[in-house]
Amino acid sequence: MKTVHHWIDGKSVEGTSGTYGPVTDPATGAVTTRVAFASAEEVDAAVAAAKAAYATWRTSSLATRTGVLFRYRALLDAHREELARLITAEHGKVHSDALGEVARGLEIVELACGIPTQLKGELSTQVASRVDVAAIRQPLGVVAGITPFNFPAMVPMWMFPLAVACGNTFVLKPSEKDPSAAVRLAELAAEAGLPDGVLNVVNGDRTAVDRLLEHPDVAAVSFVGSTPIARHIHTTASAHGKRVQALGGAKNHMLVLPDADLDAAADAAVSAAYGSAGERCMAISAVVAVGGTGDELVAKIRERAEKVRIGPGDDPASEMGPLITRAHRDKVASYVRGAAAQGADVVLDGTGFTPPAGYEEGHWIGLSLLDNVPTDADAYRDEIFGPVLCVLRAATYEEGVALINASPWGNGTAIFTRDGGAARRFQLEVEAGMVGVNVPIPVPVGYHSFGGWKHSLFGDLHVYGNDGVHFYTRGKVVTTRWPDPADAGVDLGFPSHK
Ligand code: NAD
Repeated sequence: MKTVHHWIDGKSVEGTSGTYGPVTDPATGAVTTRVAFASAEEVDAAVAAAKAAYATWRTSSLATRTGVLFRYRALLDAHREELARLITAEHGKVHSDALGEVARGLEIVELACGIPTQLKGELSTQVASRVDVAAIRQPLGVVAGITPFNFPAMVPMWMFPLAVACGNTFVLKPSEKDPSAAVRLAELAAEAGLPDGVLNVVNGDRTAVDRLLEHPDVAAVSFVGSTPIARHIHTTASAHGKRVQALGGAKNHMLVLPDADLDAAADAAVSAAYGSAGERCMAISAVVAVGGTGDELVAKIRERAEKVRIGPGDDPASEMGPLITRAHRDKVASYVRGAAAQGADVVLDGTGFTPPAGYEEGHWIGLSLLDNVPTDADAYRDEIFGPVLCVLRAATYEEGVALINASPWGNGTAIFTRDGGAARRFQLEVEAGMVGVNVPIPVPVGYHSFGGWKHSLFGDLHVYGNDGVHFYTRGKVVTTRWPDPADAGVDLGFPSHK
């Protein structure tokens, strides 16, 4: 059986804690790999390596850093297929989806290649006689990243390329459910010339995370995962004096107005609800049909959902793969089984799905579509994180927006309409961090920033884009005077702008 080790100070380091976790191929249910779980001491070793590397990395020239990043970009480009295969083997998503994940992560490496432009400071000359003021941004030190299972390559790439481009060093704790892609990303970074200790990977569970959160040499923590853990990370790391951005879970709504192109809306709903088996933080999990559109829209969604081909991620014919674990599959199924008793109409029930021959032990479930879901039903209230789409009805635009704004989450949302005025109102009125207009999954491009509102993000700054650069740097303002002999003399007055 393959073992995934840690990556500390530029080399693979075997775990010494004696604790390992199983990594499963979700398509077959077989445990294919074991991953070392780091002890507090092993986390300390990674932080110490990052701290030692920081002394020189922070003073390295921008040209040195971008030289590494450009080589890294080329290497990642050459290894897209390999990374996508690693993702599919441990996560289960279909190959084309895994390739898309790598491409969206690569976007942030490309952003990091342009870091000199982002780090340009500001200068005001002659703010007083012979006085200039410069504003510069400097790195923080050792930064930790803790990432979820659902994007094992992309979410780490949201964080470390920009952090190291800004001059920080990094300790990544990837999801223990699919750790191989993250370790491979670190190996490729070393091959690109990233100095030892600048990027470290410690594998593990809560023990490793809690040590990072309290470690005195960790300056900041980036987290992406579920809402309860995001809240824990934000509270604990803040209490230890660290800068924190903690992105949580979601329940993303798509509002469909009566004037929308219903075929396009149904295509979008099916793609965004069932892509990656619904295991996306930007998945559409609730459609709000406005006016009389509900019945027709549900019929169109059903027709499309019934045609989605479910199968192993490495089969090019598959459009949707299995779920990450058997326990998660069973939990998703329980929401579908309980929906009718809580008042929903079960239009499609994926719980009876028959797995493909040879894959009987995989974590399979079919697509489920629930209509007229009451807002107090568990299937609507909870983040299911599976291929289950809830449809709700609203009489008017106002009622639909009020429903969306009553949700405790505010990650992404979308409106489908041909009415520019309604779309404009929606942009201004809806309470979510990322809004799509006829775009179901509005994940911002790399040079904008990604982040939600309410229970979808704890902290102030979003990830990547300008917010990412601000998160990984702190500001300093330098006021300079080069004296002229003519200015000599003592003046006890408060400095003013003469
Ligand atoms: P998770 O919260 O269970 O785990 C995320 C990370 O936290 C993992 O590295 C895990 O090892 C660690 N962790 C888990 N329990 C912990 C604990 N008690 N103490 C300390 N650390 C702990 O999330 P997941 O199941 O891996 O990922 C799915 C969740 O992530 C979903 O809720 C999804 O919406 C969310 N997500 C959000 C975004 C976003 O951008 N907002 C993006 C991707 C995923």
